[in-house]
Amino acid sequence: MIRSRPQGALLLEEPSISITVDVEDWYHIPSVTGSPFSTYKDMDDFFEKWPEKYDYLTEPTGRVLDLLEEFGIEATFFVVGDVVEHYPGLVESIVAQGHEIACHGLHHACNIDPRTKAPAIGLDEFRSRTLRSRDILERTCGKSIVGYRAPNALVSGWMLDALEDMGFKYDSSVNRNSLFNKTDSALEGVSSHPYYPRKNGLDSGGSRSFVEFPWPYLDIGIRLPTSGGPMLRFLGPQLILRGLKQSMRRGHTIFYFHPIDISNSSFPRVGKGRPFYWTIHGEKVEKSLRLILKELKSVKKMTLKDALVSFDES
Ligand SMILES: [Zn+2]
Repeated sequence: MIRSRPQGALLLEEPSISITVDVEDWYHIPSVTGSPFSTYKDMDDFFEKWPEKYDYLTEPTGRVLDLLEEFGIEATFFVVGDVVEHYPGLVESIVAQGHEIACHGLHHACNIDPRTKAPAIGLDEFRSRTLRSRDILERTCGKSIVGYRAPNALVSGWMLDALEDMGFKYDSSVNRNSLFNKTDSALEGVSSHPYYPRKNGLDSGGSRSFVEFPWPYLDIGIRLPTSGGPMLRFLGPQLILRGLKQSMRRGHTIFYFHPIDISNSSFPRVGKGRPFYWTIHGEKVEKSLRLILKELKSVKKMTLKDALVSFDES
């Protein structure tokens, strides 16, 4: 049976973590494609007009797979659906190493407007894109896909309700922290560890079988988000580790990063508001990542799909 804590949160017996990897390329970010302010209207527009090499993803993904193999980690890979089409064999190579594949949207487009948080697309469009992405991924990996992560972590209660309706079992997008809020809800009512969200919201306390796996943070008076992407560069590995260890004391947690975080290439200079990884090379990040995984070597790790099973059995 699922052991419920007050507010519908879930807790495992021993400290545990899921390592998660978001598989997307440089042009999937909002300033280039998939947002109201992107340089290219949509992915078709990008591929029609982009004249040069686009693949900056395959090489660092290979190094991520090597790193996970070295540490004996089974991870959850949130894959953008169109990656299957544009990077033949890449998702298959992730599957071949036994990792879980989960859905990270069809084209990584924003489902809610990053500035206003109003829906950027209608419910029907959200459903059809998500189902298409899930279908592509399921056909590629030969297994059912039960997990979702919102592109750009822009998440909303109506999306979770739709995901549950489509048969998804979990989401992992909510980042409870003091620096930013990428949701359309206040974050005060969001649990610090896996929980059942209420209907039409992100607050904990729902009675349903759909689980939210929120992201880790370090509480030092303010809550610093302690996962990959920009924070891994900004905070460095020691603060990230402190945040992960603190989060594990609260319950099961996640850590995330992107293969392109450890890329050593210079990305094409397209779009405004480029993230850090466009200017800072990945060697340092890979070193930090290695240090973090080494420090967490003895911690129990599982894919998010397996974490769901553990909850059911706990
Ligand atoms: Zn992403």
